[in-house]
Amino acid sequence: MNFKSVKEILTAIKNKDVSVIELTSNYLDKIKERDDELNCFITLTEELALNKARKIDEEIAKNKVRALSGLPIAQKDIFCTKNIKTSCGSKMLDNFVSPYNATVIEKLNNAGTIMLGKTNMDEFAMGSSNETSFYGPVKNPWDTEYVPGGSSGGSASAVAARISPCSTGTDTGGSIRQPASLCGICGLKPTYGRVSRYGMIAFASSLDQAGIFTTDALDAAILLKEMSGYDEKDSTSSSVEVPDYHSYCLSDTNHKYTVGIPEEFVKDLNDDVKKVFYDSVKVLEKVGCKIKTINLKYTSLGVSAYQVVAPAECSSNLSRFDGVRYGHRSDNSSDLENLYRESRSEGFGKEVKRRILVGTYALSAGYYDAYYLKAQKVRNLIANDFKDAFDQVDLIIGPTTPDKAFKIGEKMNDPIAMYLSDVYTVSTNLAGLPAMSIPMGFKENMPLGLQIIGNHFDEKNILKISHLYQQETDWHKREPGK
Ligand code: GLN
Repeated sequence: MNFKSVKEILTAIKNKDVSVIELTSNYLDKIKERDDELNCFITLTEELALNKARKIDEEIAKNKVRALSGLPIAQKDIFCTKNIKTSCGSKMLDNFVSPYNATVIEKLNNAGTIMLGKTNMDEFAMGSSNETSFYGPVKNPWDTEYVPGGSSGGSASAVAARISPCSTGTDTGGSIRQPASLCGICGLKPTYGRVSRYGMIAFASSLDQAGIFTTDALDAAILLKEMSGYDEKDSTSSSVEVPDYHSYCLSDTNHKYTVGIPEEFVKDLNDDVKKVFYDSVKVLEKVGCKIKTINLKYTSLGVSAYQVVAPAECSSNLSRFDGVRYGHRSDNSSDLENLYRESRSEGFGKEVKRRILVGTYALSAGYYDAYYLKAQKVRNLIANDFKDAFDQVDLIIGPTTPDKAFKIGEKMNDPIAMYLSDVYTVSTNLAGLPAMSIPMGFKENMPLGLQIIGNHFDEKNILKISHLYQQETDWHKREPGK
């Protein structure tokens, strides 16, 4: 059984060419075969998956077909899943079983998907390599000595290894696009507010957004429609209408996009990445795009602003983990204050503690104006940069990451080097814009991603240009080990 896409799977199920139970068992077998090595999953929900598969098979027999009937999916372990462990990659939540479903989970469940399990991730989504997970690092299926990227590393690696046809992720500063790039698959981070954040464990609430991993753009289009939409449980979710992304991608309106390349995104590239990137620019020209050099002069400050705003918000969001209400509770405490201190000291890993400390410092009296307020001003400048750019161009492109994947262990003792791997992704989160990474080639047999950034709520044109690109290239069809 070797389906190439979500679309193929949905068609085969609908036509009764394959039963959902067969398909689900097949993916579970693949996971069991590969996951000892890759470590993509924290929890496998086998029984639940098989039960749901039987139920969907019964529906199909009665010709009841939902939008995603029988589609196996892996869910990032940041989404609360009712009666299932939801760890967020942390010892703090190692014993946490959620009493409710996140809206994303609810929507995908209702659309008929089959959850295979919960995927490994950097602790509380803080990281770019999946090495901060309490459950150990995830491996990149292209070469298991390399990181898959992070924080949604388990979700990305699983799709790249073809042990799940699609998966969910979250992106606060690049955690969908960067691992998609390093694993050679598609990763879409929608506009802030497009997808509900309800039940998604918060890292930095003004930046967090849920999205998806797939092998091609059309699959992402199919899934995005089902995940998106207004949710009264999330006060920042948007009521902007959700288009039918898939039919938009296939419509034959001949788009002649004007595509901007920010000088700041290409000036420091090494020769290999530069060549791969400019080869992909030629493909876009071939499909009719007009290329224009633009400037986003404040994006160079993106990582600095992000590393103040995100830790500040996380220091507040993570204060709820106190050892009292849920999560890890220390056995070594003598009084209440000690209980808080010991539970948090034992439950959080090193990177999470670093972020909490930085954030608490940046928000404290006397430093607030110097750091947090300043970072928010820079954030505005970055957003205005993009606003001006979108007056001139329809879409913006660049490489997703400055380089191919790095080796496991290579950057773990150098947080600044690690943070800089997000240099091309963080600015879009600061501006709330949608962006996607699609495969654009290889450097030394490791994949590289092309980032496409769109204006607010313009996911449809990001998907459409990606689809046009993928009709001319086969990077997205390459599989590790083949
Ligand atoms: N790598 C970035 C960080 O460490 C982004 C993480 C994310 O998007 N969740 O904060």
